Amino acid sequence: MKKKIISMIMMTVMATSLMACGGTASDTAKSKTVTEATTGVSGQTTATTEQTADTAASAAVSGSINGDGVGTAGTLIMATNAEFPPYEYHEGDSIVGIDAEIAAAISEKMGCKLQIEDIAFDSVIPEVTSGKADMGMAGMTVTEERKQSVDFSDTYAEASQVIIVKDDSAIASPDDLKDKIIGVQTGTTGDIYATDDFGDKNVERYNKGMEAVQALSQGKIDAVIIDREPAKVFVKENTGLKILDEAYTTEQYAIAVAKGNTKLLNNINAALAELKADGTLDKIVSKYITAE
Ligand code: GLN
Repeated sequence: MKKKIISMIMMTVMATSLMACGGTASDTAKSKTVTEATTGVSGQTTATTEQTADTAASAAVSGSINGDGVGTAGTLIMATNAEFPPYEYHEGDSIVGIDAEIAAAISEKMGCKLQIEDIAFDSVIPEVTSGKADMGMAGMTVTEERKQSVDFSDTYAEASQVIIVKDDSAIASPDDLKDKIIGVQTGTTGDIYATDDFGDKNVERYNKGMEAVQALSQGKIDAVIIDREPAKVFVKENTGLKILDEAYTTEQYAIAVAKGNTKLLNNINAALAELKADGTLDKIVSKYITAE
């Protein structure tokens, strides 16, 4: 049974790779990579990831967009920050998670090989606007301000910013955060909104969300504002912390592409629509997020 599914996938892959991401990369190699990524969805292996700084750099140098909207023929380069479980995180030598698997599925639909670049979260948009990466996918919230510099795909997840405090904290709602020291990850919506609401001097910025949570555990700060799903993971990994019932914001995640790259945007949206319709998206999400 499993063999049959895999060979069917191979056929689909070979058919689609004739249509898109065409060019220089060998079809055999592409088929192999994509098949591995696909079996990852069903839980057999992890998503295939490659981090090749050289190729990312050459995309920037070439500066040209291929027929399907990618900068390097045959390869879809995704910029992310793999410190954000369950959306993207390291597992051994691979980057795994919901975004990594959705990206693998999109690449498969486009007949592209997927390459994941792990960089600081606040570098993801610059990497896309400069053309070094084709898309930014990092549990990234759609905001009006970001829309000034990138175009967003259709949204693929509902999200929210939540507040983490110590179990015995007097902070019970967002209003109680006034005059408190709030930890955030640099450049995230948690950072942006907390700075707006509570002032720069009350916001402590960290490179990784996990570092903010550890600072909270150690009593260095009073609260952390971060996306709900990573918050759940981090709270589980550190004792004595809880997530407040009242969310701080509600948001939506989407994929960022360079402004005006409608070819890639259309390809991504078409792939996302198919993945939503055939249940792949739900399957990926439920592999990483168990219903409460
Ligand atoms: N959703 C938040 C944002 O877009 C955080 C994303 C992240 O830290 N990867 O700013």
